[in-house]
Amino acid sequence: MVVRTNETLVMAKDLTKVYKTGKVETAALRGVDLDVQAGEFTAVVGPSGSGKTTLLNLIGALDSATSGDLTVLGRDVNALSKRARADMRLHELGFVFQAYNLVSVLTAQENVEFVLELQGVGDERRKRAREVLEQLGLAKLAGRRPGELSGGEQQRVAVARCLAQEPEIFLLDEPTASLDWKAKTDILELVKRVHDARKLTTLFVTHDLSALPIACERVVLMKDGIIFDEGSPADLLNDDKLAQLYDMPVAEVVKRRGEAALI
Ligand code: ADP
Repeated sequence: MVVRTNETLVMAKDLTKVYKTGKVETAALRGVDLDVQAGEFTAVVGPSGSGKTTLLNLIGALDSATSGDLTVLGRDVNALSKRARADMRLHELGFVFQAYNLVSVLTAQENVEFVLELQGVGDERRKRAREVLEQLGLAKLAGRRPGELSGGEQQRVAVARCLAQEPEIFLLDEPTASLDWKAKTDILELVKRVHDARKLTTLFVTHDLSALPIACERVVLMKDGIIFDEGSPADLLNDDKLAQLYDMPVAEVVKRRGEAALI
């Protein structure tokens, strides 16, 4: 893994994405500009349907933009071949999704080994998988299959699998959405620890303001396919801003936050 500093790892300029389903077109991104520096922990927050996953998928070389420029790790992602994108996803970009996406017939250890096998790692696979599981406190669960693990444990294994790849950019899409409070906070702590220890560059997508890791230094607010605002959590996650983001009167936001202890 190359640890980069003082580098802009993601540069998006006027990025658009239009999905076409039959004759129906949905503009999911409508001109997004975003720079991400090496080592940053950025949360992308916004209501459902605001374009967060679409943006993450483009940065993660999982999908192509309709127009605009996107440079990730110095490469023009729109111009890459399918093969080159797949290589980036395997070697440089690590994903954790809401659905843990573990292979059900493989144990935790084998799930981690599996991704190393895809990377072409040879005999070292077993040892490396074991080390990552140990680092994440999962050694005891190494022999269990996903069906024998709780949701939180499965997500920890998914994080281990991602880290075993030694990615440069850590991309998480609603990783805690299916978890209870304890498992959610466990994963958030784990993500922070991993981000710090591995000096990763992390993009964390969530619609759930209570699922923002403490590690997050920068919040990007999305609304209707654009970046509505960005800044520090303290500057952005206040009643006025939330009222604008969710098209609600400020008084209603204040009332609901009080009732739900939202943040
Ligand atoms: P978010 O992650 O903020 O919930 P998404 O990026 O998933 O938002 O979706 C943005 C918009 O694009 C939504 O209106 C959604 O319905 C639409 N959309 C997302 N994926 C597809 C797809 N594969 N085909 C058609 N429309 C899509």
